[in-house]
Amino acid sequence: MKKLLVRGWWTWILVVFLVGCGNEVLVKTDDDIIPEPIVEQPVIEEPVIEEPVVDSDDSEEPDAIEVVEELDYEMVRPDESGEIMIVMYHNLSETNTTYSRTIESFKSDLQRLFDMGFSAVSMKDYIDGNFDIEAGRTPVVLTFDDGHRSNFNYLETEDGLEIDPDCVVGILDAFYIDNPTFGKAAIFYLNAGNPFGQPKYIEQKLQYLFDHGYEIGNHAYNHEDLTKLDAEGIQRALGKNTTHFNNLNEKLVMESLALPYGKSPQNDDLRPYVLKGQFEGFEYSNHTVLRVGWKPYVPVYHVDFNKSGVHRVQSGDGDMQLSWWLDEYEKNPQRRFVSDGLENRISVPSLHLNRINVDAISDKEVFEFDLENY
Ligand SMILES: [Zn+2]
Repeated sequence: MKKLLVRGWWTWILVVFLVGCGNEVLVKTDDDIIPEPIVEQPVIEEPVIEEPVVDSDDSEEPDAIEVVEELDYEMVRPDESGEIMIVMYHNLSETNTTYSRTIESFKSDLQRLFDMGFSAVSMKDYIDGNFDIEAGRTPVVLTFDDGHRSNFNYLETEDGLEIDPDCVVGILDAFYIDNPTFGKAAIFYLNAGNPFGQPKYIEQKLQYLFDHGYEIGNHAYNHEDLTKLDAEGIQRALGKNTTHFNNLNEKLVMESLALPYGKSPQNDDLRPYVLKGQFEGFEYSNHTVLRVGWKPYVPVYHVDFNKSGVHRVQSGDGDMQLSWWLDEYEKNPQRRFVSDGLENRISVPSLHLNRINVDAISDKEVFEFDLENY
């Protein structure tokens, strides 16, 4: 039996269930668009009805039903309360270390993620809880700290500037062309010093990132250890950095912070400045604050979500690093966030409904369902 919880600003959604064989057909309408009265679809007063009546041959009247979506819950087995990895990379180099990855290893990471059903999403989408990925896939956020040149390198050729095919941006661009289902998203956590190692091209690079869906985040002006600063110092380190990059490109906004050294102020009075503050009249705010390593995290509407201490998974092949976690997900795939592919719905097995913080959800419905062997 399936149950429906509805939250949100709309007044109602039409839902028609096909009970049996695990299939269902969902008919959703948008009250802002649908002319009244709606005569062809049954208005469901109760969460459960016995017999579905679905008129699916409505192609002549596209305005009558905005979206007709079908999802085989038995087959897809979504769980939008599950774990999400925010992967932490730094440099690409000749050897695999804690803070560097070879080009080949990075490419094989992407391939394995893709093959295992992951799709890259932006930090903004993670913050908003909006995942525009196919049903059955798992979001992953790719992050790169410190603005190494290997993250974004231009080659100067006779024909002009070309993106180095072996830098992170070049590799992600190419991987997306070959595997569009993977998506194209990454966030680079930058310091003001010499981001991406080619000062004369920094504005061009930032514009490219903006134009191609990449993001930048705050990593403090001079990679300061925030545990050693007072309120003024923290605000200078974070606010000065956002101001600096805002002056270079006002469209690229820093809305999240990767803590330098993974260290957050110990003093409770100082911690709020990591989230919000101002420097010389310029206000900054961080919707998420990322730590260093060692485990996957949860969606923003999960009861355990703490925006001041979002965990990341370190790239690499050691214990509790990316390869280790992918091995773990092969053994225990039910741990993962699995998308229902539906924009306005958060699908959660009944067993995991207690993970959902309904107060953190304002514009989506929470859909609870039961499956065997979940
Ligand atoms: Zn760093």
